[in-house]
Amino acid sequence: MLGLMQEWPLLCHKLIDNAERQHGLREIVSRSIEGPIVRTTYADIHRRALKVAQRLERDGYRLGDRIATLAWNTARHIEAWYGIMGIGAIYHTLNPRLFPEQIVWIMNHAEDKAIFVDLTFVPLLEKIAGAVKSLKQVIVLTDRAHMPRTTLPNVVAYEDWLNEADGDFAWKVFDEGTAAGMCYTSGTTGDPKGVVYSHRSNVLHAMIAAMPDAMGLSSRDTILPVVPMFHANAWGLGQSAPMVGAKLVMPGCKMDGASIYELLDTEKVTFSAAVPTVWMMLLQYLEETGNKLPYLNRVVIGGSSCPRAIMTKFQQNYDVQVIHAWGMTEMSPLGTLCTLKPEYAALQGEARLDIQQKQGYPPFGVEMKVTDDDNKAQPWDGKTFGRLKVRGPAVARAYYGGAGAEQFDEDGWFDTGDVAHIDAGGYMQITDRAKDVIKSGGEWISTIDLENLAVGHPDVAEAAAIGVQHSKWGERPLLVIVAKPGKEPTKADILDFMDGKVAKWWMPDDVAFVGEIPHTATGKIQKITLRKQFKDYRLPTD
Ligand code: AMP
Repeated sequence: MLGLMQEWPLLCHKLIDNAERQHGLREIVSRSIEGPIVRTTYADIHRRALKVAQRLERDGYRLGDRIATLAWNTARHIEAWYGIMGIGAIYHTLNPRLFPEQIVWIMNHAEDKAIFVDLTFVPLLEKIAGAVKSLKQVIVLTDRAHMPRTTLPNVVAYEDWLNEADGDFAWKVFDEGTAAGMCYTSGTTGDPKGVVYSHRSNVLHAMIAAMPDAMGLSSRDTILPVVPMFHANAWGLGQSAPMVGAKLVMPGCKMDGASIYELLDTEKVTFSAAVPTVWMMLLQYLEETGNKLPYLNRVVIGGSSCPRAIMTKFQQNYDVQVIHAWGMTEMSPLGTLCTLKPEYAALQGEARLDIQQKQGYPPFGVEMKVTDDDNKAQPWDGKTFGRLKVRGPAVARAYYGGAGAEQFDEDGWFDTGDVAHIDAGGYMQITDRAKDVIKSGGEWISTIDLENLAVGHPDVAEAAAIGVQHSKWGERPLLVIVAKPGKEPTKADILDFMDGKVAKWWMPDDVAFVGEIPHTATGKIQKITLRKQFKDYRLPTD
């Protein structure tokens, strides 16, 4: 017997309908690319998204067409998303930090037909547009007054283009399994792989993210997504915020400490999300200026492991709760969040930080397990490492075009490529990427643990641990350090600081000091490049 409840497809434009109806006057504040702070509301966004949809349809775009965006977080970018999805077309966010050749490759692979582009990226697009065979139209996210002289073909200013529509349009209706968005993972090896979100997965992910023990979002929050919309959907905030009716503050292209602080303060932001490097810049700015964060209540930190020093500063100096989170583009992206179950809620000091250092536990809607190389599930004992595998309604079941099929098994588990352990309380801790882990004498050493420890040293700005060839052990850890400006720590300083805080055989065999550590387009340490750089390094122990 089937249930007798209504069919109500989970479609993304229902999120913006809800925001307009229930929270129409709630503000969306953007630092515009042109400069000034611009204020709109959910009612405005809704009205203009309908115009985007109407205009796209008039220009001939249809269900399933891929429409790229190369843009920062602004209200216009959000409108474009909802307008694109509202006709059943697919928003395809492009990461401008990728190499131009990679962007061309990705656009050709996705066969993007049109692109919404910010003024910042017009020069970049001018260089590559000719190489994208499918591209028919360019819409520059600005008005006529700010439209640059450009060599781009078939180009129009967004506001002019939008003005030709009256917004008298009804969203298209289609199956909730229809593709809504696309984002390519910036794989460190091989070609990028396309993740295709559906309307259903986006709506469910927005609910999962908003739940109290996940991000805990409500209409009383003011949310600043520093994490870009082109980095795994701004961690779902572009959908969760309208779902709950929260005020949104969009940072545009300025992510430095002073600019972020200005928005946090003037807009009374209660909730924000970003990668650790952004928070390091903010904390440094706060230390230099003596400014405080009276309104900010909690921050989600993920994308790479959150150093303990960041947590301590936020919580002790500014009374801001840190929620460490882990996820992936393939997971929409949330996988786990480190909020405290009641049995841990009363913990204080180091014991509390020991839990918060973990990446947390999955909300309802994400299942996880850790397996050995033979796919045998490992015990949840907080120490047995293995490959981290996940499944759920907002987790990819394939890549676009069938690439990377070996990462998906027949039972529906996706192999994340991360190495982790899970403790008896259900909390997961990432210890490495499978390809970065250091294998010393047949045992594994976690590079993340070594890095987290090293950045706790007051003179260290950034640290990366890599395996270097060793004739006896196979590999041994080398710690690569960038010192803070004006500081000159020695190898002995660093090793003395770490001594006793990790197992003896995990201690780095050597420390190398560099001016800079290479990063990927999503801000992660580029271990491949670093390993190449230190390929012929001779450890003093060898
Ligand atoms: P992306 O798809 O670009 O978001 O990258 C996902 C990858 O980032 C994951 O597979 C992890 O390796 C890494 N990652 C994300 N969050 C964390 C975290 N909190 N700690 C450690 N690694 C993380």
